[in-house]
Amino acid sequence: MATLMQQRCFNHALREAAVRCPECGNFFCRECVTEHDDRVICAGCLPKMLEAPRARRRVFAGLLQLAQGAFGVLVVWFFFFLIGQGLLSLPDSFHEGTVWKSRWIDKQ
Ligand SMILES: [Zn+2]
Ligand SMILES: [Zn+2]
Repeated sequence: MATLMQQRCFNHALREAAVRCPECGNFFCRECVTEHDDRVICAGCLPKMLEAPRARRRVFAGLLQLAQGAFGVLVVWFFFFLIGQGLLSLPDSFHEGTVWKSRWIDKQ
């Protein structure tokens, strides 16, 4: 362990290093590291370790939102599709009616 004893803490130049962070590979003293998932992580890498799962959750939430949006579009499309089908199923005689023409054009 001679090499480790010669190393100094990355944050405290006067302190001897006690641990080497497996993430960044820098040496740190006991005060600069914390245990996380049975591994000793430096204070600089700990936020990254904690953030990783949260970022994955955010991506999942984004995908869920996208799926909800797509589902909404589908519902709206289906709604208009039904309206279109309803209009198509109407008899032609309905469109030939002059009810709206006589009311609004003849007035002017
Ligand atoms: Zn680190
Ligand atoms: Zn330190």
